[in-house]
Amino acid sequence: MIPDVISPGALKSEEEHRRDICTAGRWFFERGYVAATDGNVSLRLDPRRILTSPTGISKGMMTPDDMVITDMEGRKQSGRRNPSSELAMHLLIYRRRPDVNAVCHAHPPVATGYAAAGLPLNKALVSEIVLSLSCIPVARYGTPGTPELSEAIEPLVQSYDAILMANHGVVTYGADLLTAFFRMETTEHFARVALVTELLGKQVLLSSEDVEKLLAARARYGLQTAATTSAECPVTTGSAATDRITLTRQELEALIEEAVRHDRARR
Ligand SMILES: [Zn+2]
Repeated sequence: MIPDVISPGALKSEEEHRRDICTAGRWFFERGYVAATDGNVSLRLDPRRILTSPTGISKGMMTPDDMVITDMEGRKQSGRRNPSSELAMHLLIYRRRPDVNAVCHAHPPVATGYAAAGLPLNKALVSEIVLSLSCIPVARYGTPGTPELSEAIEPLVQSYDAILMANHGVVTYGADLLTAFFRMETTEHFARVALVTELLGKQVLLSSEDVEKLLAARARYGLQTAATTSAECPVTTGSAATDRITLTRQELEALIEEAVRHDRARR
């Protein structure tokens, strides 16, 4: 039986870790974060070994003995199945981030839509997101299953806990599997909220002062994230990146009329 619970923490028996990956895979499947055999989940068993979901199986249908154990170079040590070709990307994250013990990769449709549009989820639209992830950048495109994929995310791994992968999907990671999974859920949820603001044609961003207060609160709550804030992360009312204004048809017509009048007067 696969429990519908993942307890916090990374110090668990190998059996529990195997069940946890099955649970995370099932949550991916149930929430529509993956189709067919997409996606992969891994965790650090100890300093030299990784436990990972196998390739070629629906992440909603895995059993604990489907899991594969590899070394830090991705060489299989045990398991009747084979690891995913995207494992190299997970290994890069484990190498660059000693604080990370679990990695989730999926193709949740709204966040992947942003990735396919080349749009980062970097606006200060929702206070909880500023608190948790600050912003989610887009890594340039890399062919799946090749070193290009790892090279594309490498510059961002150190400074963010969730990354959109252009024309592909999302990767999230954290100190334990529950944190890595929650970051995937948060990314897709925020993408949905951001999409609704686009549909409504209006976005009211928080100011940099609002963001500073949230960052102070984050420190008080003891929330941990690698995300470093900058002028671009998250984008606030004062940022240059928000140099986009909206006008009503009437306002636009009035502006054009005035410009034409000015032009005529000059001739
Ligand atoms: Zn993928």
